[in-house]
Amino acid sequence: MTTKETPCPECQGTGWVLGDGGGAPVARRCSCFLTRQTQILLDRSNIPRRYKNCGFKNFEVHNDSHKDALAISKKFVKNFPAQDVGLLFIGPCGVGKTHLAVAVIRELMEKNGVPCVVYAFRDLIREIQGTFSADSALTESDILSPILQSEVLVLDELGAKRTTAWVEETIFYVINHRYNHKKTTIFTSNYPDTEDQEDHREAFYKKGGENLVDRIGVRLRSRVYEMCKIVDMWGDDYRKMAKQASYRF
Ligand SMILES: [Zn+2]
Repeated sequence: MTTKETPCPECQGTGWVLGDGGGAPVARRCSCFLTRQTQILLDRSNIPRRYKNCGFKNFEVHNDSHKDALAISKKFVKNFPAQDVGLLFIGPCGVGKTHLAVAVIRELMEKNGVPCVVYAFRDLIREIQGTFSADSALTESDILSPILQSEVLVLDELGAKRTTAWVEETIFYVINHRYNHKKTTIFTSNYPDTEDQEDHREAFYKKGGENLVDRIGVRLRSRVYEMCKIVDMWGDDYRKMAKQASYRF
């Protein structure tokens, strides 16, 4: 591998170095090649700018739910791809759901070279709907193919936008396709779930709000549950609090 300026001093730009293979030298990939591969994965992953630097190291633990969620996330990465379930981070705004989802795929890309992609639920719906217009240059399959094929998909803010029956059908198709092809999906959702016996997080959610079933329907919800380990998170909106604290007046 060469950079535009100077070739890598380790491999002189070939991307290969000779290592000790227990007697005979063996060729292995130079670290510059791996760095470059990781960068390609990160560039294609569609991680939103505000979450770009999210990792396990800078995830703030404020309560037990954060501690548990971090431990589950780390274990998920460690076991990948042996486990065949995804994760559903569920909790109110600002508790770090997207942070952890991004941290998981960042680790998978950097350490395991796994192709991962992030999509916001509302953007996905908007893009699918965009393909309905006659002058759209993109077809539905242009939009859907990276989402269907990516080894790991983060679908952020599940239920964040109301869908029509037709769009709901498309989303179900995508999720189901991934499920059938044993591809891992990680979801986040701000909507509380009603099947919990006692919901101690209720106070943190918006009063009188809808729940996940209201937003995505029973069928999609039950498929998501089949595919994922549920990771409950609760707490105050730390993002908002941190932001407020940083405004000096
Ligand atoms: Zn090199």
